[in-house]
Order: sequence, then C-alpha cells, then structure tokens
Amino acid sequence: MNYASKFEHDFNHEIGHNLGGVHGDPGLMMDTTDDILITTSGSKKITTFKGSPITNDAIRAIIGRTDMTSITPKGNVSGYGVVESKYITPAESQTLKAMPRQCGSNGRLKSIK
Ligand SMILES: [Zn+2]
Repeated sequence: MNYASKFEHDFNHEIGHNLGGVHGDPGLMMDTTDDILITTSGSKKITTFKGSPITNDAIRAIIGRTDMTSITPKGNVSGYGVVESKYITPAESQTLKAMPRQCGSNGRLKSIK
C-alpha cells in the first residue's frame, strides 16, 4: 500500500458513511483502525499503511439499511443514523451497539419506487 491506495481506501470509507455505513460494520471498509504510521529506525524513515478496503460484508450491512427509518429525539421519522441492518447477524449487531455513536454518523440509501 502507498499514499495513493491509502487515499482510495479513505475515500471509499467516507463514501460508505454517506451510503449508510457506520464504524463497526462487518468487514474492513468501515473500520476505524486504518492509519498511516511513520517510524524511524536510525536515519531511515519507515511508512506503514493500514487501509480499509471495500468488502462484501460492509456492503451487506449498508444495503440492509436501505429504507430503514428511526424516530428522532423530536419524534420525527428519519432515515439518517440508522444502525440496525436487515442483513447483519445478532453478533454483528452487538458489535455495532458497543461502538460510540458520536463518531461515524451515517447517511442512507433510499430505493426509488
Ligand atoms: Zn469513519
């Protein structure tokens, strides 16, 4: 991996948020542990990349949120911020519920009928 592919992974991650992906989704795409780590060994600089590639598991979670709605604190119906997904397992759902909600807000996909 290099800076270009790291940028591609980050871009995919952010698009994932817009489509309904949240941190903690199954697969690696919505993982929050991706990073660029620069270390030095003597006079040598070593750059290590950790990315978050698109995976079928992440897409499964996002598609499972299509058209799902939630009730906002003011009692309105919203499709934004939905974490539950029709296509995740109970164990995956528990992982999502354990994630802090203040980071990784999400958009939604809505089918056109
Ligand atoms: Zn994120």
